[in-house]
Amino acid sequence: MLNFKRPRRPNGLKQKSKDQLNALGLPGSNGWPKFQDKFWQGLKPNFMKAQYQKCGYCEIQISAHGDVEHYRPKSEVQELIAEGTELANSRKLKGRDKPAITEMGYWWLAYEWENYLLSCAICNQKYKSALFPVAPDRPTRNHQKFKAQDPKKSDIKKEQPLLINPFEKDLDPYEHFEFLKSGVIKARNDDPRGKETIRVCGLRRISLSRQRGPRAVEIWDDALDFLLARNNLNELRRIATGLYFAGHQVNLYAGMVRIIFKQVTFLDWNNLENLIKQEGWMPIVEDKVRNATSLN
Ligand SMILES: [Zn+2]
Repeated sequence: MLNFKRPRRPNGLKQKSKDQLNALGLPGSNGWPKFQDKFWQGLKPNFMKAQYQKCGYCEIQISAHGDVEHYRPKSEVQELIAEGTELANSRKLKGRDKPAITEMGYWWLAYEWENYLLSCAICNQKYKSALFPVAPDRPTRNHQKFKAQDPKKSDIKKEQPLLINPFEKDLDPYEHFEFLKSGVIKARNDDPRGKETIRVCGLRRISLSRQRGPRAVEIWDDALDFLLARNNLNELRRIATGLYFAGHQVNLYAGMVRIIFKQVTFLDWNNLENLIKQEGWMPIVEDKVRNATSLN
């Protein structure tokens, strides 16, 4: 996972969100709810740009098969009860594995800009769907806050989401995740948010680890070479700019690259960035970025 900056809300969208919410009516009224999914689907280009065409959870490339998804589920909230099924690679989780634990979801956030992010179809549809674990756990089915007819009465500000949102302010994914050389992700020191995010989005699925594996090995070796190259400026320049480019936002698995770099060198990504700036190597990286993005 990589920390992204939320794009600016388009002009006039706030009012449009309000109008859509009013048109939805109140829970329980006739025909409710009929969400207009075209509303958020139309915002896909905004999030494609802000997230560099990558899934906010697993970092794979998004093309046609990606959604603007609701971080807090709009229709209902489910619970993942079948331990281990989140690791399955091909089996779709069935209803019995993910029963609904609330009568309604966060319906008043269906048209809320701050509740959107871009996700691949696998993370969103196959795994996350309406899962949204919080701490402390919701005590009972049909918890009152989900039945509140006035969104202002909701207490989501007090809620502590366990699912990590790549748009969180000051998020440092290193605090929550670590990687094996095989590209398999793990929660760092059993971090509860890391653990639940992996479970909810199926981030240990075999297909994903296989795709990330070769890059993980490469970065691991480069990070070791980086440490060894300290007294050889030419070598250091080659390795440092290569690593910094690999962890650049435009690249796939940039979040993983940054985490592995820190795991191996015990250095923050900022340390690498400062070195590149101090040595005047930034134009080398910018060239690489230009080349990579002109291919798209
Ligand atoms: Zn994904």
